[in-house]
Amino acid sequence: MQEKIPYKIYLEENEMPTAWYNVRADMKNKPAPLLNPGTGKPMTAQELAPVFCEELIAQELDNDTPFIPIPQEILNFYKMYRPSPLVRAYCLEEKLQTPAKIYYKFEGNNTSGSHKLNSAIAQAYYAKKQGLKGVTTETGAGQWGTALSMACAYLGLDCKVYMVKVSYEQKPFRREVMRTYGASVTPSPSTETAVGRKILAEHPGTTGSLGCAISEAVEAATSQEGYRYVLGSVLNQVLLHQSVIGLEAKAAMDKYGIKPDVIIGCAGGGSNLGGLISPFMGEKLRGEADYQIIAVEPASCPSFTRGKYAYDFADTGKVCPLAKMYTLGSGFIPAPNHAGGLRYHGMSPVLSQLYDDGLMTAISVPQTEVFKAAEQFARVEGILPAPESSHAIKAAIDEALRCKETGEEKTILFGLTGTGYFDMVAYEKFHNGQMDDYIPTDEELAASFASLPQL
Ligand SMILES: *Cc1c(COP(=O)(O)O)cnc(C)c1O
Repeated sequence: MQEKIPYKIYLEENEMPTAWYNVRADMKNKPAPLLNPGTGKPMTAQELAPVFCEELIAQELDNDTPFIPIPQEILNFYKMYRPSPLVRAYCLEEKLQTPAKIYYKFEGNNTSGSHKLNSAIAQAYYAKKQGLKGVTTETGAGQWGTALSMACAYLGLDCKVYMVKVSYEQKPFRREVMRTYGASVTPSPSTETAVGRKILAEHPGTTGSLGCAISEAVEAATSQEGYRYVLGSVLNQVLLHQSVIGLEAKAAMDKYGIKPDVIIGCAGGGSNLGGLISPFMGEKLRGEADYQIIAVEPASCPSFTRGKYAYDFADTGKVCPLAKMYTLGSGFIPAPNHAGGLRYHGMSPVLSQLYDDGLMTAISVPQTEVFKAAEQFARVEGILPAPESSHAIKAAIDEALRCKETGEEKTILFGLTGTGYFDMVAYEKFHNGQMDDYIPTDEELAASFASLPQL
C-alpha cells in the first residue's frame, strides 16, 4: 500500500529550487513584446532603463533561457518563509464527501500575507545591486506595497508607495504595516507629482485608482536620481520570480508520486497562477504530460472570459508601454469588488498567449459565491483566506463536487495565495447580506473597448 500522504508536505532545504523557471523558453508562440506607444516598435532595453532596473529588464526581455539561477541573498531571504506548505485538504474532502484529492499551496504564511513577497525581494535585490537609493510603486489593496516594504527594509532600500486613496483611508492597518517596515505611503492622487496635481485639478475629490497611482509612481521614479519603478504583477519578470511556487509544489508532489489532473488559480494580473503552473505548463508544452489548467477571475472584472486580446495601455495615465494581453480596456473601472487584487483591467502577456493558444481555460465567478466558498473553507481547513484566493477555492470545490457526481478520483491542485485578515470589512458585508454581484453589461464593455489604442 502506498504511504499515506501527510497533511502538509514540506521540502528539505536541499530539495528547494535554486533557479527560477522561465516558461517562455518552452513556448512556441512567444508572448508579444511591449511596444513603445510613440513609435509602435518593440521597447528596447535602453528605452526601459529609466523606469526599470537593468537586471530586471534583461529578465523581462529574455524569452529563451529556461532556468535563471536565484541569487544566494534571495535564497537566504526565501529560507525565512519558504518552502510554503503544500497541504492535502483532507478535512475539506471529508466535508464535501468527494472522491477527488485536493491539494493547495499556501502562500499566506509570511507577514505580508501573500505570494507577492516572492517577487518583491527579487526586485528589491536587483535595485540594491544596481546601487540605487530606492524604488517606487503603487498599491491598491495593499498586499504588494506591504511585501515591497518588507523586502526594502531587509535590504536597506528606500521604499515609496502610492496607495489608492480609498484604500489608504479604508485600510489603515495595511498602511501602518508598511510604515512599520519603513516605507513612506502617500494617498494617490497626491500633490507630490505633476500627474497627481493634474488629476486632482480635473477630478477634485476623486478617491483615486490603480491606474492613477501607477502614473504617479512612474513619475516619482523617473524624476528622482537613484530611483526606479517596480510592479507586483503582470510583467514577465514577476511570473519568472513566482515560478518558485510551482517549482516547490511540483517537487513536493513528485516526492510522493502525485500528479495533479487539474490546476486552479485566481487571476488578477496573472502572477500567482503563472508561477504555480509554470513547471507543469513546461511539461505540457514539451509534450511530456498533460494538465487541465483553470484561471478563475471575478465576474465583475472578466479580462480572460470577456476581454479582447489586443495591445493596450498598462495604466490609465497612458505613460507605460503597450502590452498585448487579454484586456477590458485601460479605462475600464470594475464595480466595487472586494477582491481588490483582482481588479486589474489586463492580464499577463505570457498567460494571455497560453490562453489564446488553448493551453489553459478560464472561468469567472460572482462575488457572493466566492465568499460562500471562503467561509466553507475557513470552517474546515482553519485558514482565513483572502478574497482573491477564494476565487480558486470556489472553483476547486465545484470541481470536487463534479467528481462526487461522476465518481472520478481526480487530483486537484489550487493556489491559496494569501490570508484575509485585512479584508474583514468585505467579510462583514457578506455576513450582513450587503454584498452585490454587479456584472458589467456588453454595452459597458463595448464602450471600454472603444478606447483601445489603434495600431
Ligand atoms: C495580488 C494578489 C492576487 C492577484 O494577483 P496575481 O498577480 O494575479 O497573482 C491574488 N491573491 C492575493 C492574495 C494577492 O495579494
